[in-house]
Amino acid sequence: MTEEKIYPISDLDLKQGGSPFRLDNSTRTLFEDCPRKYYWSARGYITPRKPAYFPWGQAWHTALALWHRGEGFEKAESAALEYLQKENTAQIGDTVHTGENLSELLRRYVEYYPSEAWVVLGDEVGFEWPLPEKGSGKVHSSYSYTGSIDAYIEWPPYGKLIREDKSTGIWLSDSYLEQFKHSSQIDGYIWYMQEFLGEEIFGVLMNTACKKIAKAGKTPLFSRDIQRRNPEQLSEFLIGVGESFLRLEHYWETWSWPRTTNPIQCVGGIGRSQCPYKSLCCQPVPFTEINPLDLGLATRDKEWKPWERWGQEGE
Ligand code: SF4
Repeated sequence: MTEEKIYPISDLDLKQGGSPFRLDNSTRTLFEDCPRKYYWSARGYITPRKPAYFPWGQAWHTALALWHRGEGFEKAESAALEYLQKENTAQIGDTVHTGENLSELLRRYVEYYPSEAWVVLGDEVGFEWPLPEKGSGKVHSSYSYTGSIDAYIEWPPYGKLIREDKSTGIWLSDSYLEQFKHSSQIDGYIWYMQEFLGEEIFGVLMNTACKKIAKAGKTPLFSRDIQRRNPEQLSEFLIGVGESFLRLEHYWETWSWPRTTNPIQCVGGIGRSQCPYKSLCCQPVPFTEINPLDLGLATRDKEWKPWERWGQEGE
C-alpha cells in the first residue's frame, strides 16, 4: 500500500522522494508543457478556487454514465445535479457551469441520441499498467502508465471501442475536433485497452458535447467521431512516455525545473486556461525560496490518482 502524501511537500522532501514511477496523460502533458508547472503541482499547490469547468465536467460524466447504463433521464439528471450542488464553483454571472445548463444539455442529448447501436460493457474504469521493458526506451521496468476510461462498449460490426465523453465550451468546429487525431490521451487509452484485453480494439468513440447552448440553436451541440490508431502510432506513444520518464529523472538529478519557452502556457489563450502559478514566476527570488501560500495559492488535500477514478482532463 502506498503512503498518502501530505501537502504541501517541501522542496527538499520532493527531491528526496525521487522521480515518479507512474505517469498519466494529464501529468505528462503538464510536465511537457512546462517543467516548472509540474514542479509546483508535484509540491501540491493549486488555485484556491477549483475552475468551474472541472466539477461541471465531472457532473456531465456522471449524467452520461447513468444514462448509458439505462438508469433513465431523471436519475441521471438528479445524480449529476446533486454532485454539482456539492462541488459547484461557478462564479456569479457564469451561465454555462450551472445545473440548469446541465439539465438542458442532457435533455437535448437524450433527444439527439434516443437509442444506441452499441452496448456498454463497463464504465468509469481506472487503470494502471506497467510499461513494457521493450519498446518504451530505457525505462525502469517498474514504471507504469495510468488513467481512467469513461466506458468501453461493444458495437457490432466494429467490435470493442472505448467511449470518451468530452464537454467543452468551444464550438464543435472541424479544427477543434481534429485535435483528437493527435491526442496522446487517446493513444494511451487504446494502448492500455489492447494490453488489458490481449486483442485489438477498433478505436475510441469521441462523444463530445458543447456546453455553450447557442440561442439560435444552429451550432451543433454534439459530435461523435471514431478515433483509431495503428501499431506504429502506438509504439511512438510508448517511446514518448518512456522519454518523459527519462526527462523527469533528468530534472530530478539536476533539480533545475526550467520554465516554458511558450508564454501562451503562462497567460492562456483560446481553449487554454492561464497558468495557476503565473504569480510565482514573476518573483525576483530563486523559485525554491518562494512560499506559494503567501501569493494566494492553496494546497490540494489529496493526491491526483486517475487510476482510482475520478477526474476530467482540462476543459
Ligand atoms: S507561469 Fe509559465 S513558466 Fe511559470 S509555471 Fe506557469 S507555465 Fe511555467
